[in-house]
Amino acid sequence: MKEFHDRLHKKYYYTIVSFIIVLMVMGVVIDNPFNSRFIIHGLMVAIISACLLFYPLFEHAWLRYTTVISSTVFFYTLFYLYPETWSGFVLLCFIPAFSILFFDSRLFYFSLVLNMLFIAFLFSYIVVVDKGQSYPYIYTDVVGNVVNFMASQILLYFIFHLTNLRIQKQRLYYEQVQQAERMKTTGQLAAAVAHEIRNPLTVVKGFLQYYAEEKEFNHKQNFSLMINELNTAEHVISQFLSISKPDQGETLNHVDIEPVLKDVTELLNMYGLLNDNSIHLDVEKGCYVMAHSIELKQLLINLIKNAIEASHHSGSVSVTATKQKRHVVIQINDSGQGMTQEEVKSLGTPFYSLKSKGTGLGLMICYNIVEKYNGTIQFESEPGIGTTVTIRFPLVHS
Ligand code: ADP
Ligand code: MG
Repeated sequence: MKEFHDRLHKKYYYTIVSFIIVLMVMGVVIDNPFNSRFIIHGLMVAIISACLLFYPLFEHAWLRYTTVISSTVFFYTLFYLYPETWSGFVLLCFIPAFSILFFDSRLFYFSLVLNMLFIAFLFSYIVVVDKGQSYPYIYTDVVGNVVNFMASQILLYFIFHLTNLRIQKQRLYYEQVQQAERMKTTGQLAAAVAHEIRNPLTVVKGFLQYYAEEKEFNHKQNFSLMINELNTAEHVISQFLSISKPDQGETLNHVDIEPVLKDVTELLNMYGLLNDNSIHLDVEKGCYVMAHSIELKQLLINLIKNAIEASHHSGSVSVTATKQKRHVVIQINDSGQGMTQEEVKSLGTPFYSLKSKGTGLGLMICYNIVEKYNGTIQFESEPGIGTTVTIRFPLVHS
C-alpha cells in the first residue's frame, strides 16, 4: 500500500516519461539534417522534457498548463515542419489525451478547446494560404478530415468523462470510509471521555447537595472550585468535539504540531487510563507542517490509539516530535506486543486487523493522510518488545 503510494508511483512515472523523452529525441536526431528545422524541433523537445521531469517536484497547476500548452505547440510545429509526415495529423487529434493523465477536468477542457482553436487555424491556413501544396491529403477532403477530427475529440471527451466519474465515485467512497472510521474512533473514545467528565460533575453535585441542606448560605468561596471543575468538564468535551466534527470547509494551514499533539495526547490519556496506560509527550518548539489540523489529529489518534491498544497493563507510550533538517519527525513508541515482519508488511491494507473489534481501516487512512501531505510513515516492530512508528513531514516555517 505504502509502496504503491509513493515509491512505485514515481518510479512508473519516471519510467514512462523516460520512454517518451527517448522517442522524442529519436524523432529529432534520426535522419534529420542539422538546420533550423532541427534546432526548433530540438528546442521544443527540451522544453517538454523539462516540464515532464520537473512536474513531480512541484506538482503545480501552472506546470500542468505549461506542459499542455507546450505539447500542443510542439505537435503543431512538427506538423508544420514535416508536412510530408501525414501521420502527424493523427497525433494532433489526440493531443488532449495527454491532459487526461493529470486527472484535472479544467485542464482537460482547456486542452480540448485549445486543440480546436489550433485546428481551426491550421485548416484555414491550408485552405486559404497553402491551397494543398504541402498538405494535399487534407486539402482534397477538408470536410472528411474535419469530421474525423471532431469525432476523435468527442471520443476523448467520453473517455475522460467516464474515467473521471469513476474516480470521483472512488474519492467519495474513500471520504465516507474516513468519516465512518472517525465516528467509530470517536465512539470508542466516548467511554473514556464520559469517565473523565463524571469526576468534576460528582464534585460539583456534592457541593450543591451540601448547600441544599444548609439553612444559611455563606459558602461563596467554594464557587471558584466548582467553576474550575466545570471548566475541566467543558475542556474535555470541546477536545472531544474537535475530533468528531467533520472537516468541511477547513483550509490548508501551517499547523503547529505542539498544540495538536497536546490535544490528542490529553484526550487519549483518558482512553489509556481505562487500562492504566500513560502517554509521555516531548515536542520540540517550532515544528510546523502544512496540513489540515483535523486530518493530522485523525492520523495521530489512530497511531497512538493503536500503541495504547497494543500495550500491556500499565505500560507507557512515548510520543516525540523533533525538527531534523527540512523535516518534522514524529515518533510513537510502545513497549507492547509488537508485530512480526509479515504483519508489518500487511499494515495499511484495508480491513487488515488482528483485533476482535478492529476495522482494519485506521492505518489505511493514516497512509493516505501522510501521502496527501507529502510525508512518509515507517514501522519498526519486534514481537514481544514493541513498536516504533516514525512519520516525517516536510517542515514549513510559521
Ligand atoms: P484496527 O486498529 O481497527 O485493528 P488498524 O488499521 O489501526 O486497525 O491496525 C491494523 C492492525 O495493525 C491492528 O489490528 C494491529 O494488529 C496492528 N497494529 C497496528 N499498530 C500496532 C502497534 N503499535 N503494535 C502492534 N500491532 C499494531
Ligand atoms: Mg486502529
